[in-house]
This record gives sequence, structure tokens and C-alpha cells, in this order.
Amino acid sequence: MSTVEKNITTVREIIAERALKSGRQASDVRLMAVTKQVDDERILDAVKAGIRIIGENYIQEGKRKYDLIGPRVEWHMIGHLQKNKAKYAVQFVDMIHSVDRFDLAKEIDRRAAAADRTMKILIEVNISGEQSKSGVAAEATLELVRRVSSLPALSIQGLMTMPPWSSDPEDARPYFRSLRLLRDRISEEEIPGVEMRELSMGMTDDYPVAVEEGATIVRIGRAIFGSRA
Ligand SMILES: *Cc1c(COP(=O)(O)O)cnc(C)c1O
Repeated sequence: MSTVEKNITTVREIIAERALKSGRQASDVRLMAVTKQVDDERILDAVKAGIRIIGENYIQEGKRKYDLIGPRVEWHMIGHLQKNKAKYAVQFVDMIHSVDRFDLAKEIDRRAAAADRTMKILIEVNISGEQSKSGVAAEATLELVRRVSSLPALSIQGLMTMPPWSSDPEDARPYFRSLRLLRDRISEEEIPGVEMRELSMGMTDDYPVAVEEGATIVRIGRAIFGSRA
């Protein structure tokens, strides 16, 4: 068994344990392998070990890996996206987690429509309000969701966030909870065409807490592939 496969088994066990502990099913949580700076061989190990979602931060790097691995996995973009990359994203990306402004949404919509497809997106929320973070402010999220919902080639699936860095994963809990409550509140609005099923939250240091707080997609790099250079 490869190290990557062992790591994936461990992560899956922890996800299952924390899901059950909080009254959820392990199958409610999808595990994304985040592959920035990871070599092809270890990515293929992850796919062999049953990984079905790959998360990439950069379009070019993602496209190169897509050309190697292809559509047997889902390709999710989790990094900050420039508008001029939207035309490449619609060629191979299944879901974009980092939509945080209307002009970006509009450009993805335009490019998706031209490619005759629908793009699944998540709205990235700056739930902590830190100056340095990307993401729409929590108070402005409902309004952004309303505006983006009018774009026909986009399908809003839920919300994504990154809490402030901390050495204690418990520090992230209130932010994860806030994102879930925000998701529930937006869901109650029943905006036509808007699904509020997904909560993309939790990384290597804090995913057990994110699962307890309702994550449906956890984005894991180092716990699967080891630390980055
Ligand atoms: C790198 C990255 C991750 C994975 O981080 P790890 O700490 O390695 O698990 C998750 N989400 C985003 C947006 C990232 O950039």
C-alpha cells in the first residue's frame, strides 16, 4: 500500500468518526485531494486509492494534470481566480469554489455559455472578515447569491470558506458554524436555481472540526501528500 493510500485511509476514518459523532453519515462528506505542487505519480496513487475529486489552485497546473488523468475524477478549482482564466476553466473544471464577486461570475457565465455548458460554483465567503482574505463579506453574501442566480450558465451549489490560521483547530469552529448558519439562512430564501447543499470547508489542520460543523466537501492536501516544499 502506498503512503498516499495509507494517509487517505486514515483521513477517511477520521471523517467517518466525526460524521457519526455529530449525527451525520460518512457519505455526507466528500474528500477532495488538493494537489498543488504534488507530482503526478502521487496524484495517480490517490486516484488509485479511490479519490474522486481533485482540487487545484492554478488553472495551468490543473489543465496539465487533467490532460494526464482525464475525466475519471472531478476537477475543482479552489484558488483565487482571475477573470482572464475563466475561458480555460470551462474547458475542464467541474466546480469552481472561489467565486467571490459578480464580475468574475459574469465572465465564467459568459465563457460557460459559449462552451455550451453549465458551471457549478460555490460562493467563497470571507467569514472572519480579515482584510487579507479573499471572499465576499458575510453580510453581502445573500445579495451576491441573488445577483449570480440570474446568470443562466452558472449553478450555485453552496458556500466555501477558509477560517483564519490558528494552531488550535477548535478556533476554527465558530467560523465553520457561521458558514453553515449563513448557508441555512440563504437556503430559506428559496432563490430559484440556487442549491445550498454544499459547504466546502476544512483543510488538513481543521477538517475534523469542519465535519462536525457540517462540511460536505473537505479540501485536504498535506494530510494526504505530506508537507509542501
Ligand atoms: C492548499 C489549500 C488547501 C489544502 O491545504 P492543506 O492544509 O494542505 O490540507 C485547501 N484549500 C485551499 C483553498 C488551499 O489553497
